[in-house]
Amino acid sequence: MKVGNHVGFAAEILRKGGLVSIPTETVYGLAADATNPDAVAAIFKVKKRPSFDPLIIHVSDFESAKKYTSHIDPRAKLLADHFWPGPLTLVLPKKDSIPDIVSAGLTTVGVRVPNHPITLDLLRSVDFPLAAPSANLFGYVSPTRPQHVASQLGESIDYILDGGPCAIGVESTILGFENDSPVIYRRGGIEISAIEDLIGPVKVNEHSNSNPQAPGMLSSHYSPFKKLVGEPYDQTVKAFPNLKVGALRFSNKLPSCPENWQLVLSESGNLLEAAYHLFEYLRKIDELEPDLFVVEFVPDIGIGQAINDRLRRATASNH
Ligand code: AMP
Ligand code: MG
Repeated sequence: MKVGNHVGFAAEILRKGGLVSIPTETVYGLAADATNPDAVAAIFKVKKRPSFDPLIIHVSDFESAKKYTSHIDPRAKLLADHFWPGPLTLVLPKKDSIPDIVSAGLTTVGVRVPNHPITLDLLRSVDFPLAAPSANLFGYVSPTRPQHVASQLGESIDYILDGGPCAIGVESTILGFENDSPVIYRRGGIEISAIEDLIGPVKVNEHSNSNPQAPGMLSSHYSPFKKLVGEPYDQTVKAFPNLKVGALRFSNKLPSCPENWQLVLSESGNLLEAAYHLFEYLRKIDELEPDLFVVEFVPDIGIGQAINDRLRRATASNH
């Protein structure tokens, strides 16, 4: 495995059916030629991702999105015009050129144009879309730096395209249509209110383990190997007298917890900064001394809703 910024080299590997980790503004992806079922199968294998969890395809612009989908709702077009390139995935009816393995057997496929210059270059230099889930082992925290990818998947992939740290740090917002009505399948980098400003009210389909429309949205996800629990801190310390209890905080430290057992997402209380640090700090949790971490949720507005969604799912799960 190599790390570098050679778009031509990355394109060559992808043409041969190999795997390349790509930078985006949300998180690092694990990409393969979406039209090559064997290459896509390798993504599932390397990530240990269950085959019922569909992948998103990445394209360079709206015209290429049209090539791989059979119908684009006018509201989807409006959103694409407004937010692409950017952290919005549109779930649309797929054409047969996208193999069933990509969509986990669904008749729809998630499509987006990522907003990262190197990856846009790469997408323009190949003549196929890239299927790419986040470049982490299934269920673990998404990677926001090339080193995160290297440490977890480095041995099993061909190349990491280094585009620096991801600017946004949480995944894309996913929107589809059910009975002609817009539905949010995942909260993410685009605020729901910004979507509603353009197309009117949208329904938010909260994650469950049994929703067949969104098979990947498992309630436990995004979790480090250590246990995370919700507040309050002091009560948790009392409940686990033999454990060291750390804290993942929004903007300030707790007086009752040792300083170096705490991680603060944004000292200035800025939600964008908190999103940028979120996955990096969830990974740090596994390196710090405490056995257990108490998580403080962030204000539930704007991108804070996407952050809280990831925090809730991280506290719901243990490996
Ligand atoms: P990841 O790239 O790891 O964030 O995973 C992509 C997510 O997109 C998965 O969790 C899927 O549930 C969701 N997704 C992809 N395609 C579809 C689709 N056709 N319908 C509903 N959800 C989808
Ligand atoms: Mg993922």
